[in-house]
Amino acid sequence: MATINGVPVKSPVPLSSRMQTGRAMALDVWSVYNAANLPADCINLGQGYMNFPPPQWVKDAATEALGTVAGNHYSHPKGRPRLREAIRDYYSASYGRTLNVDNEILVTSGANEGQYAMFTAFLDPGDEVIMFEPYFDQYLPSVTFNAGTPVFVPLHPPSSANRRSTSDDWTIDFEELRAAFSPKTKMIIVNTPHNPVGKVFRRDELEKIAALAKEFNTLVMADEVYDCLVYDQKEHVRIATLPGMWERTVTVGSAGKSFAATGWRVGWLVGPPTLIGPVLAATTRIVYCSNSPLQEAAAAGLEQAPSRNFFPLQLQAYQERRDILLEGFDRLGMNYTHPEGSYFALLDISNVDIPDDYPFPQTIHGRGRDFKACWFIAMEVGVSSIPVSEFYGEKNSHIGEKFARFAFCKDTAQLKEAVERLQKLKNYLK
Ligand code: GLN
Repeated sequence: MATINGVPVKSPVPLSSRMQTGRAMALDVWSVYNAANLPADCINLGQGYMNFPPPQWVKDAATEALGTVAGNHYSHPKGRPRLREAIRDYYSASYGRTLNVDNEILVTSGANEGQYAMFTAFLDPGDEVIMFEPYFDQYLPSVTFNAGTPVFVPLHPPSSANRRSTSDDWTIDFEELRAAFSPKTKMIIVNTPHNPVGKVFRRDELEKIAALAKEFNTLVMADEVYDCLVYDQKEHVRIATLPGMWERTVTVGSAGKSFAATGWRVGWLVGPPTLIGPVLAATTRIVYCSNSPLQEAAAAGLEQAPSRNFFPLQLQAYQERRDILLEGFDRLGMNYTHPEGSYFALLDISNVDIPDDYPFPQTIHGRGRDFKACWFIAMEVGVSSIPVSEFYGEKNSHIGEKFARFAFCKDTAQLKEAVERLQKLKNYLK
């Protein structure tokens, strides 16, 4: 009988077999460490969402859209014309081409649904999808629900002797990557900037990935939802812009990340008509269209961003937030990965001493050591984080078990309070 976290499901008929795949029936990590399960005063650096609202001028555009008739009704399944035009005007330069609003841009219900629709459009039973570990957890069920088979290739972490490693020290073994490709490979997922490592894939790395995608004739899903968060003068390279790659790449973007609006569920895909067309057909049958007023607001955001210098200013604010957190890690004297992109930082928690007899909840029994460490830190120190083994297949989960992911998409006051609390961890180090 099917179980959810060990509890039998009392359904009058058996569940679909796909529910037994992709860890669908295990409680997802975001629910385990949800604020509702932790003490009320615990600071949430777990699930990546902001403790501040979208900019007022973006919210005003949402209010304005709600005041119109059309803004409350169905959109075209491709997305509202105003948003597709805003995406074209804002992003075309970064693709080195003028994007066609009719067939090269597709608005989706968050980046997640766009990715799901791409799997629906292209995966047949047994088709393989390569993903680097750690991988954003949602990829897994999205692939298996569409009958695909995930193939994992680990990013290799820096040696633990290295206290101040950067996300660039998480490396790809290209022989290993080549060996993961097979005639069954349909797609590779490339997430840059990377969640949870913060790695910004270098041009030479992307060129090698691109060469393999071409050699094995695979598609690329380029998950670039953190493209506005690249620090330290690193270059964000879109794999779609490398020679011969536009034809085989769909790039994923997100209003939630761009405008501090993760609950809006507005995302978009950019790619050639031959790929966007089938994904449009899939998304039309999955959700028909995405919510209308918030598409209007996202459009206003992109339209006004240049004149308001919005993205450079936002980046500066995030850099400050990152530096507060990393300074706190430095003072703790624990190893961590300095992220060059995204709003996540990995702390090496392998030397946190966790009492065996600590009262852990049922939801984390049988999970990795990092699940315990994150629970213990949340309860004893008052700061939540996410265990990184959740982003691994079984074989390599021991790599993830060494790390906790802290999200720094929070205001500076909250981050300062969090790093002060984290100093308490010194009392629990081996
Ligand atoms: N992308 C966000 C994160 O990694 C949210 C994930 C989610 O809630 N599914 O924290």
